[in-house]
Amino acid sequence: MVVGLSIDIEDFYQGWTQFLGGESQSTSKKFLVQCEYLLDVLGERGIKATFFFLGSSVLHCIDIVKRIHLAGHEVAIHGFEHRNLASIDYTQFCFDTSKALDLIQNAISAPVFGYRAPFCSLNSKTSWVLDALKELGFLYDSSLLPVVGRKVQGRAESNVFQFANGIYEIPFSMGTLWGKRILPIGGGYFRRFPYYYSKWVIHQHMQRYGYAVIYHHNYDFFNHNLADGSISRTHIINNFFLWLRLSLCSQSNSQTVQPKFTQLLDEFEFCPLSELIRTTGTVAAQIGPVIGGTTKCHDGSDPN
Ligand SMILES: [Zn+2]
Repeated sequence: MVVGLSIDIEDFYQGWTQFLGGESQSTSKKFLVQCEYLLDVLGERGIKATFFFLGSSVLHCIDIVKRIHLAGHEVAIHGFEHRNLASIDYTQFCFDTSKALDLIQNAISAPVFGYRAPFCSLNSKTSWVLDALKELGFLYDSSLLPVVGRKVQGRAESNVFQFANGIYEIPFSMGTLWGKRILPIGGGYFRRFPYYYSKWVIHQHMQRYGYAVIYHHNYDFFNHNLADGSISRTHIINNFFLWLRLSLCSQSNSQTVQPKFTQLLDEFEFCPLSELIRTTGTVAAQIGPVIGGTTKCHDGSDPN
């Protein structure tokens, strides 16, 4: 039984810069250190993971995406910028995601199959993204928080399944208490909760489905502050409460995360997410050079 290990590669302030006034297309001073840490800690153990990249980050760190690919990890897409799906439409999504695809596939000279929506923003109102993913040649999505209120096309299963258009969904694994799905494992939950919460959810999910999925961010493993980013002093003052919230979130409990993470890595077996499609009995024969061709999404025109 394996754990699908996924890591969203982004800065801790990504998605908030529109409010704070920073340059969302730059990376923080610690970005590369965080990526190096992940390459080392996984490389020492021979563990492979899926790394979801933002196109905007790759613009500034093309070498790191190449190195992650050459180290045998799966490279997937987290959008171009860190935009909530609810804030864009089909055309804008296709334009942004095509840009990210072109950039990343050119960098690694290999096709990309997986997508994860920023802020886990796949839900019943944004389910149009599934058709866009199909059109762009993706094989799977991993954005679904499988709880009743977030059903997508009437689906909220916890195990890998296929939507009607053929896109595979690899949902986040959630802890279940008294029959109710509560919280996922990874990110802020991994940072703040005792290690045994994650272990308990992994065991729960494995017993039921034979695998589990955990997510992290590169920034989860380090302390950092807003000065590491490119956010102007004026905007911090003008958005004090947002800054306070972001600072508290970014600083919480990060000193305990590296030891918890190594304990996790030593205790379970891991694989990239695309492997879960194979190991759960569904066929991934589509994995091949599926990206490319001319579509209405991929014609290079700017919807703006
Ligand atoms: Zn993200």
